[in-house]
Amino acid sequence: MALYFSEDFLQELMDRNDIVEYISHSVHLKKAGSTYKGLCPFHKEKTPSFSVSADKQLFYCFGCGKGGTLINYVMQMDNLDFVEAVKLLADRCGMELPEENSNSNDANTKLRQTIYKINSVSGRFFYDKLAEPCGANAMEYVSKRALSKQTVNRFGLGYAPDGNVLLKYLREQGFTDDEIVASGVVGRSENGDIYDRFRNRLMFPIIDVRKNIIGFGGRVLDDSKPKYLNSPETVAFNKSYNLFGLNIAKNSTEDYLVLVEGYMDVIQLHQHGVNTVVATLGTALTPEQARIIKRCKPQVVISYDSDEAGQKATQRAIELLDAEGLKVKVLTMVGSKDPDEYIKANGVGAYIKLIEESQEQIEYKLRKLRKNYDITNIQQKADYVNSAAKEFVNIKSPVECELYVKKVSAETGVSEQSIFSEITRLKKINEKDEEFKAFRKAQVQTTKPADMQKRRYDHAQKLIINIFSNHKSVSNYILSTLNEEDFDDQMRELFVVVKSIRESGGEPDAGLIVSKMSDTALAAEILHDDKNIDDPVLAAKQSAEIILNYKKAERIKAALANDELTSTDKLGKISEEISYERKGVEDGDN
Ligand SMILES: [Zn+2]
Repeated sequence: MALYFSEDFLQELMDRNDIVEYISHSVHLKKAGSTYKGLCPFHKEKTPSFSVSADKQLFYCFGCGKGGTLINYVMQMDNLDFVEAVKLLADRCGMELPEENSNSNDANTKLRQTIYKINSVSGRFFYDKLAEPCGANAMEYVSKRALSKQTVNRFGLGYAPDGNVLLKYLREQGFTDDEIVASGVVGRSENGDIYDRFRNRLMFPIIDVRKNIIGFGGRVLDDSKPKYLNSPETVAFNKSYNLFGLNIAKNSTEDYLVLVEGYMDVIQLHQHGVNTVVATLGTALTPEQARIIKRCKPQVVISYDSDEAGQKATQRAIELLDAEGLKVKVLTMVGSKDPDEYIKANGVGAYIKLIEESQEQIEYKLRKLRKNYDITNIQQKADYVNSAAKEFVNIKSPVECELYVKKVSAETGVSEQSIFSEITRLKKINEKDEEFKAFRKAQVQTTKPADMQKRRYDHAQKLIINIFSNHKSVSNYILSTLNEEDFDDQMRELFVVVKSIRESGGEPDAGLIVSKMSDTALAAEILHDDKNIDDPVLAAKQSAEIILNYKKAERIKAALANDELTSTDKLGKISEEISYERKGVEDGDN
C-alpha cells in the first residue's frame, strides 16, 4: 500500500514533518538520552514507556507495543487510513500530492534524476581532467596541500578547465540545453548564451546521503573571485538541506559530528582518519541542517575558525543545534586559524585530543539557565543558584570554577562560600550514587533457564538487526555469519530487507524500511534508536554467538523429540543441551 506514493515522495514527506515536533503537540515529551520519552497516548500508564527517536524518525511504546513512522502515528491517533494520513501530513508542510492523472510530480522526479545523471557525468569529466595536462595547475595545488591519491579518489576531486568544454561534452552525451542549465553546471546569460559555470577551478562534488552528486563546489586556483563558487539551487540541490561530507560522516562509528567551516577542512581531517566531519555549503548553518545532523548523531563538536567571524558563527550554531536538542561542544584551537592549519602545525593526534577535550560552554549553559528563573523571587533565586552549582560540579579547572562562582554570586547576592559548599555537597552525592549503582548491578540475577535463553535469543536478534542497519562496518561480518533461517518468523522479514539493502551497498533508512514492514511496531521497536553501542563489532559477535547457539540447541531438541538419534548420540546431545541451559543461567541476562 505504501507504494501508492513514490519512495521519493514519502521520503520528502518524512523529511519535512519532524516526528518529535508533531507528536509533542499531543504528548508531553522529555529528552532521555538519544530519544524522547512520554506517557503513551495509546494506553493508560503512569510512568512513561512511550519513546520517540528524532534521528530514526520512529516511535515505539514499550508498554503496549505500538510503533512505527509518523504516518503510522497519524493513522492510529486520528483513525485515518494510509492515504488520508499522508494527505494530512502533506497538507501540513505544504507539499502537493501527486495527483493520479497529473504528471507534475513525476516530471519533477524525472528532472531530478536527469540532474543526478548530468552531475555524475560532469563529476567524472572533472575527475578525468585533473589527470590531464590541462589540470596541471590544479594538481599542483593538490600536492601543495598534501592530498593523497586516495583522498582525491574518495572525494572525487576534479578540475574544471577554461572555456565551454563541459557544455560541449554534455551536449555530445545527448543532454538537452534545458536539462544542462537545470543542473546548474552551466549558466545562462540574459541574452540567452550558455556557458560553463566553473572555469579553471578545483572541483568538489557535493554528495547526499543517498550517494547522488547533487551539486559542486569549485575553488579558484589564482586570485580571482569568489574564492569558492557553488552550484546554484536546483530541483536536486537545496543548500540548506545538505552538508558537505555527510555521506561519509554519517557512517562513522563515533556518536558525534565535527562541524567545520570549509570543504578543505573536511577533506584534510578525513585524510588523517577523522571521518566524522562535515561542513555547511558556503552558508551559515540552517535549522534544517541542524535537524539533519540530529538524525545522524546526538552530539556535535563545533570546530569553526578561531577568528571573530568564526566565533560569532559558533554562537549562532550553538543556538540552532541546541534548539534541536543536540548536545553541543565547542573545540578551542589556540595559535591556528582553522583545523587544516592546526593539524599542519601540531599533528592530527593533537587535534583529536582537542575533540576529546572539547566542552559544552558553561557560559552558554548558564545563560540558558538564567532565562528560566525570576531571581527577584527568593525561592526561584535559590533554585537558580542550586542549578548553577550542579553545572559547576563538572568543571575540572578550579580557577574556572571560581570565576563562575564569583559571577553567580555577584548576580544573585548569594555568598561565594554558600555556593562552594553546595558544590561540595553535590560532589559527595554523586560519589554515593555511583557506589549505589555498582551495588545494584552486582545484585541482579536469577530467572528460569529456558525462558532466559529465549529472552537472550530475542534480545540478540533485535540487537544484531539494529547493528546491521546502523553500522556498515560490521555488515560483512553479519552477512557471512548469519542467514534468514537463524531468525524467527517475526524478525526474519526485517532481517531480509536490511540484508538486501546491505548487499546492494546501500544505506538503510529506518523510516522507509519500517513503513514497508507488515509488523511496523516490531520493526520500530528494533530500529527506533541506535542503542548507543560502544563497540558494534564486539556486540555483533556476541549476539551472533547467542543466536547460533540457540538455534543449535533448538535443532538438538527437535532431534530428540523426533527420536532421530541413536542412543549413544542421544546421551551426548542431552548433556550438550543441559550444559547450554546452565551456561545461560551463569552468564546472567544482559
Ligand atoms: Zn502504549
